[in-house]
Amino acid sequence: MNQESYIEKAEENILHTYNRFHLVLDHGEGVYLYDTDGKEYLDFAAGIAVQALGYHNKEYNEALKAQVDKLLHTSNLYYNVPIVHAAERLKAASGMDRVFFTNSGTEAIEGAIKTAKKYAFTRDGHAGHEIIAMNHSFHGRSLGALSVTGNKHYQEPFEPLMPGVKFAEFNNLDSVKALINEKTCAIIFETVQGEGGIYPATVEFIEGLRKLCDENDILLILDEIQCGMGRTGEMFAWQHYGVKPDVMTSAKALGCGVPVGAFLMTEKVAEKSLKPGDHGTTYGGNPLVGAAADKVLEIMERDDIPGHVREIAPYLEQKLDELVEKYDFITARRGMGLIQGLVSEKSVGQIAAKAIEEGLLVITAGSDVLRFVPPLIIEKKHVDEMIQKLEHVLQSI
Ligand SMILES: *Cc1c(COP(=O)(O)O)cnc(C)c1O
Repeated sequence: MNQESYIEKAEENILHTYNRFHLVLDHGEGVYLYDTDGKEYLDFAAGIAVQALGYHNKEYNEALKAQVDKLLHTSNLYYNVPIVHAAERLKAASGMDRVFFTNSGTEAIEGAIKTAKKYAFTRDGHAGHEIIAMNHSFHGRSLGALSVTGNKHYQEPFEPLMPGVKFAEFNNLDSVKALINEKTCAIIFETVQGEGGIYPATVEFIEGLRKLCDENDILLILDEIQCGMGRTGEMFAWQHYGVKPDVMTSAKALGCGVPVGAFLMTEKVAEKSLKPGDHGTTYGGNPLVGAAADKVLEIMERDDIPGHVREIAPYLEQKLDELVEKYDFITARRGMGLIQGLVSEKSVGQIAAKAIEEGLLVITAGSDVLRFVPPLIIEKKHVDEMIQKLEHVLQSI
């Protein structure tokens, strides 16, 4: 079948919740993807910041294949070996104390919210607590996660959502302060806002909120689902700030292609929050995803992937800054490490679509940001190739 017929069939049978790019991907190698016609694409999207190790990583694939032949699933009524290793590595990488594995990012957020609610319930002896989230945030599509996602367009059709959520301005400490009261149980935000337009948190904001949380026994929840796992040049973006969250979430690159997420917490939070019966999952942390996460974490640590990001990212930043200089309609660059955004006055949707014709995959964030979240293994030559392809597009629109 050719691409057109695959797309036709997809549109006949799959619920239309995405306006997809006109592209059927078939296989990948390193930082390149290939469509069903064999055309090559340089990938600066990485399946939305998932494929941190690129494609066809032999060591990773072998680990998964071996696990497939051994044991895929057990349920959480029993222990399994791969997830024990993965948990140990994730704890070491994050400095957190306890982990719960989920199947996705949105479920990790659900778990983090339940953790905060249960923590405050234990603290106060009653329920009815509030959470402060940020405007332009993105935490996922399930109803709890949607409730803390500061985007009216995503929320409105599904209201009423979870009550007790208030929205503050990201990077505006006073706006958060103004919302805190005795019911507040948690403040949740992305260390680097992703979908909302690639906004890194400022040092003052994170430090200020850590202090506020400490003073009021409120939990600081950091969503590292997109910006975590080495992407900013540290395993987790918050590690740049010298401030530790009480609860954090991970997903996307944690499995590098298999669906796995996690929420983690400190021992203090674990002691006062979720207990047997409070939370569960059938699939979460099964042997297959355990083997994947264990291998991803092993490779990231052994090959110092965050170190590689620290080396390569300044080059990408420099090249993107040159585009800001050169093109009137490219007005700014924002980002941290290998999560970067270019603000454009011309349609970013159109730029991303045209880039596909040039053999380049980039995606958008917010309404006017071109988002660059490549595999973390890119080299300078890939940055050069990307810029060359992108400039072709920028010159043609
Ligand atoms: C992608 C994302 C989520 C949701 O993860 P899913 O795996 O799509 O459910 C949550 N938070 C952030 C910051 C994300 O980027």
